[in-house]
Amino acid sequence: MNTFVAQVDATTLSYLHTQLTPYIVATPQYAVFQAKTQHTTITAYKSGKVVLQGKFAQQIAEKFQLTSSLSPCASNTSSVLPKQFSIWSVMGSDEVGTGSYLGPVVVASAFVDKKTIPLLQQAGVQDSKNLSDTAIRELSQFLKQNIPYKTLTVSPEKYNETHNTYNMNQIKALLHNRALYLLSTKIDHHFIDAYLIDEFCAKKTYYRYVADEEQVIEDRVYFATKGESHHIAVAAASIIARAAFLDYLDTLSTEFGMTIPSGAGEQSDVVAANILQRYGLDGLKRIAKLHFANTEKVFQLAGLPKTDWLHVHQLFQ
Ligand code: MN
Repeated sequence: MNTFVAQVDATTLSYLHTQLTPYIVATPQYAVFQAKTQHTTITAYKSGKVVLQGKFAQQIAEKFQLTSSLSPCASNTSSVLPKQFSIWSVMGSDEVGTGSYLGPVVVASAFVDKKTIPLLQQAGVQDSKNLSDTAIRELSQFLKQNIPYKTLTVSPEKYNETHNTYNMNQIKALLHNRALYLLSTKIDHHFIDAYLIDEFCAKKTYYRYVADEEQVIEDRVYFATKGESHHIAVAAASIIARAAFLDYLDTLSTEFGMTIPSGAGEQSDVVAANILQRYGLDGLKRIAKLHFANTEKVFQLAGLPKTDWLHVHQLFQ
C-alpha cells in the first residue's frame, strides 16, 4: 500500500477538512477527521500530521500540495550499527514533548560508560515509554547520581517564538547537537566510543539543520530509530528528558492552579481553554505549542470569535 505522511499547519488542516468534508467517515480516536476517497484513506491528527494511505496517496497529496514529512526523514538511511555496539561506551540523546500540545520540548543527552551498563540494567533503565511516571522520576534521580547528562528545555513561550523561523525537526536537531556537544565538553573524548541519536530525520537532513552551528558533533555519530533498543544511553536520556518534562508540567500546574496534562487530547484542550479565558493569550503562550491544530478548538471552547484565532494564527505561522 502507498503511504504518504505530511506535517501541515492549522490553516492547511482546516482547508483539508473543508475540502474533504463529503468524504468524511467515522473519526478514529486521536484523529481530527478521516476521509475515504479514490481508494485512499486520509487521516488528520491534531498535531498536524496527515497520513494518506492507498492507491492514490501520492496523487492526492500532490493535489493538495502537501510535502512529505517522511522523505527527508526516511529511516532507510539509518546507520548500520557495529556489532557489539550495545556494550560500547556511548553518549545518547533523545527528546520529549514534541507530540504534546501543552508543556515544553526537552532534549537530554546521557553518557554511559561500558562499565556502568550492568548497573543501569539492574536498576531497570529502559525506554521511558514503557515506564510509569513514578518509575521515570525515580530512575531519573538514580541516573543523575550515576552518569553524566545534560538537559535542554525549550519553554512553550520560547518554542512559539522559534517556530516562526524553524520547523519542529530543525528545532530538535539544534537541541540534540547542543546537548551532545555540551556534555562532550565534560568528558575525556577517549572514553566516548560513539554517539547515538534517536533518529527523527535522515542524517543528511540533520546535518543540514545544524550546519550554521559553531560546534557540530559529527565524528563517530550513529542514528537509529528505536535508539533505546540499541544502547542504554538513549534509554537513559529518554528517562531524564521525560522526568524534566513532567517536572515542568508540575511547575506550570502549580503556577496556574490546575493540572496541566501531557498529550494532545480533549483534556489538554479543556485546560488550555480555561487558561485562555482566565489569562488571555499571554497565558496560553506560556503553556501551549500554538501551531498545533488544538489551538483552533481551544478558541472555540473558550467562546472566543474565530477572528481572534485567525489573528493569533497569523502571528504564529
Ligand atoms: Mn525519541
